[in-house]
Amino acid sequence: MKLIDGKAIAQALRIDVASGVRRFLEAHSRVPALHVVLVGDDAASAVYVRNKEKAVTEAGMRGEVHRLPATTSAAELHALVDRLNRDPAVDGILVQLPLPKHIPVDPLLESVNPAKDVDGFHPVNVGKLWSGRNALVPCTPRGCLHLLRSAEIPLEGVRALVVGRSNIVGKPMAALLLGAHATVTLAHSRSRDLPARCREADVLIVAAGQPRLVEGSWIKPGATVIDVGMHRGADGKLFGDVDFASASAVAGAITPVPGGVGPMTIAMLLDNTLRAASARENS
Ligand code: NAD
Repeated sequence: MKLIDGKAIAQALRIDVASGVRRFLEAHSRVPALHVVLVGDDAASAVYVRNKEKAVTEAGMRGEVHRLPATTSAAELHALVDRLNRDPAVDGILVQLPLPKHIPVDPLLESVNPAKDVDGFHPVNVGKLWSGRNALVPCTPRGCLHLLRSAEIPLEGVRALVVGRSNIVGKPMAALLLGAHATVTLAHSRSRDLPARCREADVLIVAAGQPRLVEGSWIKPGATVIDVGMHRGADGKLFGDVDFASASAVAGAITPVPGGVGPMTIAMLLDNTLRAASARENS
């Protein structure tokens, strides 16, 4: 069994991005800039945003966080996004979710300039991804694909199963695997006989948000398993949607939790910001 080391792969990607940033600086006399919008005082979001800010600075990019009170109106938030859309010094815009309940999410995500949409959530980017065109792609599924590529897992013609159909992970993951020429199945909470579907998969991506949903007996011997799930146990330890102990005895390759998909998400955000900046300079 091969352990897919997301920590090491993410670190290598961050080093690549940092050298890309140095080349960008030489070519354009500025560094890429990511602007993060954080509304309200959700404790988990505050931690995620601090981690993003730190990673952006470490990669040599400019990071700015716009911290707004929970009472901010939708109109005020739209005005800020408009300003960032028009500011030529801003390359990436990320609106940290969840937003306070009084702010409708979809209109806000749709108001971000697609060329600066480093989360890849804008319908224009979603459409481009599904039509096989150059798009900004959501960070977590892009990170999963990068893990598969780095571990040299063959994708062309293989059976891939994605468990979970969220817009953030499951659906874009399916599009990426399709783009890599896998035969893709997308399962979800209403799918019948999930264990049987899992047993057919050469590559299994689990993003269901269900603690230890997938057991070793569901896995085809030798299959590759990517566990996107993230849960914290009563003992404070992180674990995934896959029962690692039984799954790792059957799988050919598997990601651990922590140290698998998690570190890839921020690394891909850095890469998306550099890509957005480069694309804007070259457009
Ligand atoms: P979500 O709740 O939006 O979507 C979950 C999906 O799983 C849904 O489509 C649902 O139909 C499906 N599902 C739920 N129960 C199921 C079941 N019993 N059988 C089959 N399908 C089932 O979640 P999400 O945002 O896609 O996140 C999924 C998991 O990945 C969560 O644990 C989340 O914490 C984690 N996550 C991790 C990262 C990271 O950086 N590592 C990033 C995003 C999400």
